[in-house]
Amino acid sequence: MTKKRLTILGSTGSIGTSTLDIVRQFPNHFDVCALSCHSRVQQLAEQIREFHPDIVCVGSEEQADWLQKQFAAKDLTIVYGDEGLIQLTAETKVDLVVAGIVGSAGLRSTYAAIERGYDIALANKETMVLSGELMVTKAQETGSTIFPVDSEHNAIFQSLVGHQQSDIEKIILTASGGPFRDTPLSQFHQITLQDALNHPNWNMGNKITIDSATMMNKGLEVIEARWLFDIPVSQIEVVIHRESIVHSLVEYTDGSFIAQLGLPDMRIPIAFCLAYPARLPLRSEKMKMAELGKLHFEPVVWEKFPCLEMAISAANLGGAAPAVLNGANEAVVAAYLEERIHFLEIAGILKKVLEQLCLSQKSQENHYPFLHHIQTIDDALKADNWGRLEAQSLIN
Ligand code: NAD
Ligand code: MG
Repeated sequence: MTKKRLTILGSTGSIGTSTLDIVRQFPNHFDVCALSCHSRVQQLAEQIREFHPDIVCVGSEEQADWLQKQFAAKDLTIVYGDEGLIQLTAETKVDLVVAGIVGSAGLRSTYAAIERGYDIALANKETMVLSGELMVTKAQETGSTIFPVDSEHNAIFQSLVGHQQSDIEKIILTASGGPFRDTPLSQFHQITLQDALNHPNWNMGNKITIDSATMMNKGLEVIEARWLFDIPVSQIEVVIHRESIVHSLVEYTDGSFIAQLGLPDMRIPIAFCLAYPARLPLRSEKMKMAELGKLHFEPVVWEKFPCLEMAISAANLGGAAPAVLNGANEAVVAAYLEERIHFLEIAGILKKVLEQLCLSQKSQENHYPFLHHIQTIDDALKADNWGRLEAQSLIN
C-alpha cells in the first residue's frame, strides 16, 4: 500500500493531536511530511521524534533556533512565522493537508494549499467564515477537494454522498447547546470563566469552547455550511440536541432525513477525511444503540444566545459582515479568556461592532473598500482585522 502523505497545520492543538493519534494507530497508512505549531515547541519536538517529518514550522525565529539545536544532526528543515507557514504548506508535496490552526491565522496557509490543488481536511472553520466563496471557487479551479472535519459538516458530507443537490430541502445543524443550555437567562450574570470552559460533551481548544458556550460556534458553522455545501442560509436550520450523537442531518424533498450518528469523538470525522473513501477500523469506544436510551431534540432559546442570531444576520448581510464579526469575536473571546470582560458583555460588544460596520458602510468618508466587497484573501483579512480593532477599542 502506498502511504498517504500528510501536512498537519496546528499539530499541537486539539485537532492536530487527534489527527496524530490516528496516524499512530495506522502507521502503514500515513506518512507525516510536515507539521506546524505556534508556541508549544517542546510538544512539537516530541512529535518530530515520533513522526519524523521532513519540515516543520514554528511561530518565531527564537523557537526555530532552539529547535535547530535539538535536531542538529537530523535531516529536518525548520521554518518560522507566517512566511514559513506558507512555504511549508505550498512546497511540501502531499496528498492531504489537515488545516487545524485556530482562527483567522489559518487563512493564508489553507488558501496556499488550495492554490496548489492539495486536498484539504478542513477544521479551520474561520477559513470558510472569512472567505468561503474565494476558497470554494479556487478549489473548483485547482481540483482541490475540501473534506469538512467539523463534526456537523462532516455528518452532512456523509449524508450527501450519492444524493443530488437539487433534492435537498434543508440542512439541519445539531447543537449541544453548550454548558448553559439549562441555565435560565436570569442566572447568566453568575457565569464564570470556569463554567464557560466546561463543555458537557466535547473536549476542544479554549477558543471554540467559549464559542460553544455563547453558541457563536453554531453561527460560524451556519456560515461554514453555506459555502461548503453551496446552500442559501434560509435553508439551514439549527436544532438543540443535547447528547451530541446525531451530528447533523439533511432533509430531502421527499420527507426523508439522512443523518450521521456516532459518539462525540473528533477522531471519527478526522479519520473519515484521512481515509476517504475508505473507513479506518479506529480503536475507540464503540457506541451501543440500546444503551443510548433517549435522544432529545429541542428548539433554540434565542434570547439566551444572541451571538447565534448575530452570526446568522451577518451571513444574510454577506460581504464583509461575517469576516468583521469573526475578527471582533476572536478579540472578545481573547479578552474573556483573560477575564477582562464578563460573559454577558461578549454579545453586547459584538452587536456594537456590527452597528459600527453598518454606519461605516453608509458613511461618505469610508475609504475601506474591503468593508463593501471581499474580493481577495487580503480583503478578508483586512475586514477581520477591522472588526478585531473595533472590538479591542470597545474592550479598552
Ligand atoms: P487549539 O487551540 O487546540 O489548537 C490550535 C493550533 O493552532 C495549535 O497547534 C496552535 O499552535 C496553532 N496556532 C494558534 N495560533 C496560531 C497562529 N497565529 N499561527 C499559526 N498557528 C497557530 O484549537 P482546536 O480546538 O484544535 O481548533 C482548531 C480549529 O478546528 C479551529 O478553527 C476550530 O474551530 C476547529 N474545530 C475544532 C474542533 C475540536 O474538537 N477541537 C471541532 C471542530 C472544529
Ligand atoms: Mg462543530
